[in-house]
Amino acid sequence: MNIYSALISILILLNSYFKTYDLKPFSHILGLEGFIKTKKPYFCANMMHFELSEEHLAVQQAARDFAQTELLPGVIERDNKQEFPAEQIKKLGELGFLGMMVDPKYGGSGMDTISYVLAMEELSKVDASASVVVSVNNSLVCWGLENFANEEQKQKYLVPLAKGLVHGAFCLSEPEAGSDATSQRTTAVDMGDYYLVNGTKNWITNGNTASTYLVIAQTNVEAGHRGINAFIMTRDMEGFVVGKKEDKMGIRGSDTHSLMFTDVKVPKANRIGEDGFGFKFAMKTLTGGRIGIASQALGIASGAYELSLKYAKERKAFGTEIMNHQAIQFKLADMATDIEAARMLCLKAAWLKDQHLDYGRASSMAKLFSSEVAMKHTVEAVQIHGGYGYVKEYHVERLMRDAKITQIYEGTSEVQRVVISRDILK
Ligand SMILES: Cc1cc2nc3c(=O)[nH]c(=O)nc-3n(C[C@H](O)[C@H](O)[C@H](O)COP(=O)(O)OP(=O)(O)OC[C@H]3O[C@@H](n4cnc5c(N)ncnc54)[C@H](O)[C@@H]3O)c2cc1C
Repeated sequence: MNIYSALISILILLNSYFKTYDLKPFSHILGLEGFIKTKKPYFCANMMHFELSEEHLAVQQAARDFAQTELLPGVIERDNKQEFPAEQIKKLGELGFLGMMVDPKYGGSGMDTISYVLAMEELSKVDASASVVVSVNNSLVCWGLENFANEEQKQKYLVPLAKGLVHGAFCLSEPEAGSDATSQRTTAVDMGDYYLVNGTKNWITNGNTASTYLVIAQTNVEAGHRGINAFIMTRDMEGFVVGKKEDKMGIRGSDTHSLMFTDVKVPKANRIGEDGFGFKFAMKTLTGGRIGIASQALGIASGAYELSLKYAKERKAFGTEIMNHQAIQFKLADMATDIEAARMLCLKAAWLKDQHLDYGRASSMAKLFSSEVAMKHTVEAVQIHGGYGYVKEYHVERLMRDAKITQIYEGTSEVQRVVISRDILK
């Protein structure tokens, strides 16, 4: 056991004793900032190794505790009322979950992508409306800014986002540009020292609660996708209007809005990267984002599985617990197997990303498989619960509704198949 292992073990013990779930001690105390991200991973990088490090286990436990203590109470009511989990997101921010992978020098927790997957699974088991905020802020907004924004932009926008003081939104989709993201109708006309932005964005997660919006718009139509730019916008800009809230099937606590821009003057200093970099920015960012949504789907599936397992041990039919009926046993076996496979795909994609290896195909595979597993097995979870599965009190009906979105956003299942097949056939 090296000195870091020993000190982390002490921290884990202290953490479990005081029942805290703050991520920050693990990266800030002992000068561990960026330990996993910037140095060799905690586990041996060149070997096949399925064990999680003690630090990973601590992050997982912290997220699990938070989900049970802070997210579970009121999750049904928030879903019913379509209420954004504002208090819970504030606490997640304070604890370092909103900037998990950001370098501590920009206010983040300096964790790796594996930690992020573990946290996303645990949070999503209980409340996918809260976990989508964690996913969007971490892997779309913070990651995009940390990797492609300039230093001034990072100081101004990334630091408060990574510290969890505020959260952000990623604005690519439009009424006529979803899967085909190249068909941007939102325009950003170059006016010298500013861009004049006009258009509408659809389905924007955190649309009404974000402070910082990463907006994709077309500057040069003739140049096609090479004429697209990405901008940092704030809701106090004149001409920026938040539209209606969507009344959704699932993740009803999540705050999904359309956004309207009318002659919004966006300073040139707010463009991310070189002129024409916007489409590449969006695609690169979404590739990482898919690991977050894959882990969200994994969490929804494993949440439904855990509830089903518990219910099968308690509910009696024909004089015995339903777990003693082979039909139920086989459903549970299929669930457990598919969920384990989904978890492996998520962790592999995360590992590749942490090793700075190509993770495009892996992240699409993780998202495709995990979201299909989430949909299939939340339906089975309702079936295992019988009539009780069909009412809100038992949670699985909500998980079933929440599962559906994971097959749609950040690239539909069909789009993931396009990405994977292109990569296989290239
Ligand atoms: C709750 C929610 C939150 C969202 N959050 C965000 C957000 O924060 N930011 C953001 O930018 N967007 C967001 N979106 C938008 C989401 O990413 C899009 O809805 C999604 O990409 C699909 O686009 P679309 O709805 O236009 O469907 P379309 O692209 O019109 O697709 C319709 C159908 O055709 C299929 N299809 C399309 N092209 C192909 C093809 N080439 N091959 C095979 N099949 C194809 C699709 O798979 C789908 O089944 C969100 C959506 C929802 C519902």
